[in-house]
Amino acid sequence: MSTGLGRGAGRRFGSGWISGVLAVTCGALGYGGVLCLLFPSWLTTPSARALYPLELVRFLIYVMLVLGFGLGALSVVLRRRKVLGFTGIALATAGTLLGGSSAEIGTLGGTTAVGLDWFLLNLFILALLFVPLERVIPRLPEQAIFRPGWTTDLMHFAMSHLLVQVTVVLTMLPAGVLFRWATQPWLQDAVAAQPLALQFLEIVLVADFTQYWVHRAFHRVPWLWRLHAIHHSSETMDWLAGSRLHLLDIVVTRGLSFVPLYVLGFAPPAVYAYLVFVSFLAVFIHANVRFDLGPLDWLLATPRFHHWHHAANPVDKNFAVHLPWIDRLFGTAYLPAGRWPEVYGISGSPVPQGYWRQLAWPFLR
Ligand SMILES: [Zn+2]
Ligand SMILES: [Zn+2]
Repeated sequence: MSTGLGRGAGRRFGSGWISGVLAVTCGALGYGGVLCLLFPSWLTTPSARALYPLELVRFLIYVMLVLGFGLGALSVVLRRRKVLGFTGIALATAGTLLGGSSAEIGTLGGTTAVGLDWFLLNLFILALLFVPLERVIPRLPEQAIFRPGWTTDLMHFAMSHLLVQVTVVLTMLPAGVLFRWATQPWLQDAVAAQPLALQFLEIVLVADFTQYWVHRAFHRVPWLWRLHAIHHSSETMDWLAGSRLHLLDIVVTRGLSFVPLYVLGFAPPAVYAYLVFVSFLAVFIHANVRFDLGPLDWLLATPRFHHWHHAANPVDKNFAVHLPWIDRLFGTAYLPAGRWPEVYGISGSPVPQGYWRQLAWPFLR
């Protein structure tokens, strides 16, 4: 956005835009946090509930509400257009009226409707990590945070996190239902008895090896490509762009990648460590971040490696998402020294914009 819009309407430092955006973000996080306290049965994930350090959660909600007020007020003072500032203040006020950080925890029981806690927590941590990182070492310094398509990607991010309960169950389903016959107690005992660090490395290897072939199938088989094309429709790469994935793409890719992990019987702590690792790496490799490992580029996937997977030209390169040398092994690697793609997306841009249209598009003729 141009900064020549006159006082109080641009996005430059001092225009009240940054404080306004932060006010809305913090106000929304605080308000959502209070809702999670009040309606834990409806809005929080049972498996995560027991793990939350409640004092810290309440403190963070308090900080978010205070920032929503304070930055909202600052933005209202600085900015001619007051909508951001007042929205931040309104969200913080609503959260406070509902009890704020000391809201009593609602009754538990029944099944979860949505994982609002999971969505807010991930948004908080990832935005805190990647928004500054993309400012400090940007690949494209001129690229805006709120670039075209960001609302679509935020919707993808929100839906996949809000529906975490559903996607986790569906991810584990193919393994448990179709491959129970393949499990061997002696094998699973031997695998789980190894040191956890070794199991972690083995999981990274086994998961990406499976993912590589599933991913190639998604590019090769026409009806699978219609699902996966949604992911490739992003024409701007940043930390949020990787969230643009059709729900069926998520479930099928993760479900199949999980099968060998299930059959081999890795110990749960090693699997959880892998899940944390992969959730960060998946965001990182899409980020608008200039990060080179130099000669170690082939060891671990970097933004530059995965950005070439999203290049408009050449296509069908770099299918691995953890270990680039798998692509070298199978002849699909493309990583010209020091170079980045010029254009991202699918030539001809066949995929429509907007979350719901993208969800429906693979099924339309
Ligand atoms: Zn792909
Ligand atoms: Zn990607």
